Amino acid sequence: MVNTEAYQKLRSELDPKGVTLVAVSKIKPVSDIKQLYDLGQRDFGENYVQELVEKQPQLPADIRWHFIGHLQSNKVKYIAPFVHLIHGVDGQKLLKEINKQAAKVNRVIPVLLQVYIAKEESKFGLDAAELEEVLTSAETASFRNIRIEGLMGMASFTENTEAVREEFSILKGLADRWAGHITENIQLRTLSFGMSGDYPLAIEEGSNMVRIGSLLFGARN
Ligand SMILES: *Cc1c(COP(=O)(O)O)cnc(C)c1O
Repeated sequence: MVNTEAYQKLRSELDPKGVTLVAVSKIKPVSDIKQLYDLGQRDFGENYVQELVEKQPQLPADIRWHFIGHLQSNKVKYIAPFVHLIHGVDGQKLLKEINKQAAKVNRVIPVLLQVYIAKEESKFGLDAAELEEVLTSAETASFRNIRIEGLMGMASFTENTEAVREEFSILKGLADRWAGHITENIQLRTLSFGMSGDYPLAIEEGSNMVRIGSLLFGARN
C-alpha cells in the first residue's frame, strides 16, 4: 500500500533542497509504482535485474529506472538498453562490462561508484585506495560508454546516529576530494546516500539523492 501522504510530505521537504528522491520499489507490485507515478514520481529504484526487466515494459516509458542493487557482470546486458543510473558499481571489472554493454546499444550509461563506509562485513563497495584506482586508471579513461557521475554508499544499520553521521561524512569527504577531478567521463556531482531510516541525517551531511522504500511503500517483510 502506497503512503501518498508520506510521499507528498517527502517531496515538499526534498524538492526545495534540490534532493532527488529515488522511490525504491523492490518487491512491490507494478500497481504501487503506477500510483506514485500518477502523483508525479519519475525516479524509481530496483535491486534485482529480473524483477526490473519484468516491470519496466509494464510501466510508462518516461520512468527513470535506477539500479541500486548488487549488479553481477553477467546481467548488465539485460538492463543496459534502458537503465537511467547504476548506483552500486564496486569495481573495474563491472565498469568494463557496463561500458561494453552500453556500447552495444549505443548508449552512454551514467554510473555511481559504491564506496564502502559501513563497519559491517555484508556491505559492498570500494575503499579510498580502490576508489582512487578506478578514478585514475588509464583503462577507466578509455571507456567511451560510461560516465561516472558520483558516489553511493550505505551506512551501518544502527540506532547510533553519531556513527551513521561519521560514515556519511567519510563519503562526503571522498566526494569533495575528487570533485575537481573532471575528465571526459568523470564528474562527481551526485551523492546517493540516505534511506527511510536515515535520510534527514544524510541530507545534513551532503546527500543530494536519497533512496527511499519502506517509508513510501510500507514494510517489505
Ligand atoms: C532497499 C534499499 C533501499 C531502501 O530502503 P528503505 O529502508 O526501505 O528506505 C535503499 N537503498 C538500497 C541499496 C536498498 O537496497
